[in-house]
Amino acid sequence: MSGQHFRSLNPGVCCVSGDKSLQEGCDRGADYMLSRRGFMAASAATQAGPRSAAPSDLPALLGGARAHPGPFPNWPIYDQREEDALRETLASRKWLRVSGENVNHFEQEYARALGAKGCVATCNGTSALLISLKAHGVGPGDEVIVPPYTFIATVNAVLMLHALPVFVDTDPATAQMDASKIEAAMTDRTAAILPVHLGGSACDLDAILALAARRKVPVVEDACQAHFGEWRNRKLGSFGSTGCFSFQATKNMVCGEGGALVSNDEALLDRCFALHSHGRERRISGYDFTYRMSGANLRMDEFHAALARVQLSRLESQCAVRDANAKYLTALLREIPGIRPLEMYANCTRNAWHLYIFRYDPAAFSGLPRAKFLRALAAEGITASAGYTPLNRAPFLRNTLESGKFPRLVPKSRLAVWDERNQCPANDKLCSEAVWFTHSMLLASRADMEQIAEAIQKLRRHATSLLKA
Ligand SMILES: *Cc1c(COP(=O)(O)O)cnc(C)c1O
Repeated sequence: MSGQHFRSLNPGVCCVSGDKSLQEGCDRGADYMLSRRGFMAASAATQAGPRSAAPSDLPALLGGARAHPGPFPNWPIYDQREEDALRETLASRKWLRVSGENVNHFEQEYARALGAKGCVATCNGTSALLISLKAHGVGPGDEVIVPPYTFIATVNAVLMLHALPVFVDTDPATAQMDASKIEAAMTDRTAAILPVHLGGSACDLDAILALAARRKVPVVEDACQAHFGEWRNRKLGSFGSTGCFSFQATKNMVCGEGGALVSNDEALLDRCFALHSHGRERRISGYDFTYRMSGANLRMDEFHAALARVQLSRLESQCAVRDANAKYLTALLREIPGIRPLEMYANCTRNAWHLYIFRYDPAAFSGLPRAKFLRALAAEGITASAGYTPLNRAPFLRNTLESGKFPRLVPKSRLAVWDERNQCPANDKLCSEAVWFTHSMLLASRADMEQIAEAIQKLRRHATSLLKA
């Protein structure tokens, strides 16, 4: 298969982007592919069979040439526009959202881009989740439905409010929360459903929204990995009572540390605004010392908004490149026995591809354990991760629920029931099999995708020797 794909190599193909700095990243990748060394290594790796192993067909871990000799694009991406925006903010001396206009503009632009009525920018994604849950009155002793396959912040936001996270097992096909198992996990204490669009792909929103409407429970979408992902051609984050985003520097849209929540409910947006800025109304000046309610300071500042505005203008073209490369990579990886890319629900009309995830089956690799597969892949110039460990079984969670004020809110008898229902076998299996690539690798060229597939093929051809190494 790789011979064919090699012929179809088209280094320029990723540069459908109008984003100049992204284009530069792609060109750099393409140069590597066209360099003699890269070409020779790739050809040799492609043509040599398992018996006639030329030295360069050997896995890099065993002394062969790397299947991916070049770099992947740097992340984050910036150019003069970000520098100008930051310098202008500096010179304006308007560094707070109360005095400047960057945060206000960003909120309007982000809401418009998502097709939501309004937006509240926050200092990070965790704050957006906290504010959303708090605005719905989630509090001590309540239960919130969460997936076990997510970043810890989803669960921490629940715990910070002294509420109990109730885990719903993972759908093995998609790695999203299994919507068919949510209702069985609900009780009269369920105060919210907090689904995650894991990896940038969508959870089953139709099923979750229908259930939530029937049971009159709010849905807070954790879209921190899903900027510009879509469900039925509408942007993720715009379906729930709020949708929460993170612009932390490793996400698909970034400003260092930052976040936002969007909503179509004006009253809820007002409450969220107050919660994020000392309980104040949106339209008051800095010297108005009247307060609507209690609140914290979880605001974004003018510098981060200046960065976020420019980064937002890059997002659409980056999404298109990630999507094209991810689809191509999936077509290549599907051909490899033992490699199973995750599926998507039919109504997920666009995956934001924060993560590219596949399952690895050692049985198809002569028993080569995942950890060693990852090490050999890294030696080929392709860094991958084993991903999350089972959150529902994390020791810190147990400790948290058994200490401080929690035992009074969630007595032992209730915790025992929680324990019993807290099993997520499908998620345990996923955690033991998953392999992740990060989104910035999907900003490379088609040739890079081919090299990833070729590297994995090579490791499979030499799995027995790798096992002994
Ligand atoms: C990153 C992330 C968050 C938290 O965002 P921060 O900006 O780091 O606070 C929450 N949920 C998920 C799923 C995330 O990936």
